[in-house]
Amino acid sequence: MKFLKAMQKFDSSGIRKVFDLASKLKKPINLSIGEPDFNVPAEIKNEVCKAIKNNKNKYTQTAGIPVLREKIALKLKHENKIITHAENVIVTSGTSGALHLLFHVLLNPGDEVIIIDPYFVIYKQVPQLSGAKVKTISSYPDFSLPVLKIEKAITSKTKMVIINSPNNPTGKVYKEEELKNLVDVLKKKDILLISDEIYEKFTYECEHVSPASIYKNTITLNGFSKAYALTGLRVGYAAGPKDIISEMIKLQQYTYVCAPSISQYAALKALKVDTKKLVLEYKKRRDLMYKGLRENFKIEKPEGAFYVFPKVPKGSAENFAKKAIAKNLLIVPGGVFSFKDSHFRISFAAALKDLKQGIKILNEL
Ligand code: PLP
Repeated sequence: MKFLKAMQKFDSSGIRKVFDLASKLKKPINLSIGEPDFNVPAEIKNEVCKAIKNNKNKYTQTAGIPVLREKIALKLKHENKIITHAENVIVTSGTSGALHLLFHVLLNPGDEVIIIDPYFVIYKQVPQLSGAKVKTISSYPDFSLPVLKIEKAITSKTKMVIINSPNNPTGKVYKEEELKNLVDVLKKKDILLISDEIYEKFTYECEHVSPASIYKNTITLNGFSKAYALTGLRVGYAAGPKDIISEMIKLQQYTYVCAPSISQYAALKALKVDTKKLVLEYKKRRDLMYKGLRENFKIEKPEGAFYVFPKVPKGSAENFAKKAIAKNLLIVPGGVFSFKDSHFRISFAAALKDLKQGIKILNEL
């Protein structure tokens, strides 16, 4: 079968090799998973049951149920200082769904997309389906926002810059000053900023800042997977300039049709759920990981999300991950998220006993 040429550039060989090895383990200590280990809060579960009992299983409006779009717009206003309205919001099948719609309605062959390395895998691979060119800008070694390098990489073909704070896989949270500097650069050329804020609730020292509060030409992406453990319910959203959102709604009609109906009711409830306690719990785990690894590994203290991204002492991260697997521990080699294969990602969204065991094994290695 002759497949789309761009699909050949999707490279999952590194991670596949590692996970093939991992699949042979009986009960591994799994610190590789990018999803919360807590259960869905009870009030959200009840809302899901209620929605099912009340037959809310039909197609919804393509852009999402109107009350959810309204509440998201209000949330963005109150929590993120973004002035927006329901018609500037589309509810999608996860944040991933929003990313796919966005790339497809905006990117033409030859357009350039700037992303920060290390990156979330979708940013690197999916724009290529539209024939766009993805330019990666390194944020090593401290993972702060490389504004000067971004400025240098901008050409007349640059269509968008994608950022993700709090960051997967580094745990970095971009400061207001850094974001202002980036916005100053993008404003000059009216370049679209895509801000993926899915880990927004997970910040441990500093506040999360939404760049759409200072730059209108921003699409804010967010979702309910991480903060409310709703990964399998597939619900997220995008908010931004109306012309872009309208095109995304048009394409949603021909692709996903709508976000899952029951999940939209779960999301409506989730907007009222307080996540502070949970975040405090994750802060403890972050501290445990950082303290447990900093003597033997070069490591930036994560300020947000639920990942640490230490450097391997020597050799490639792929080899290091294989050695960890041989000791029953699953971690993700950095080459999955980067041109460099020098670091590895650990998720601390796992039970304390697994984290302690993981630290022990990594220090032995
Ligand atoms: N953006 C980032 C940075 C992520 O890490 C993930 C999931 O791991 C997503 C988006 C996708 O999340 P969703 O479950 O909402 O599609």
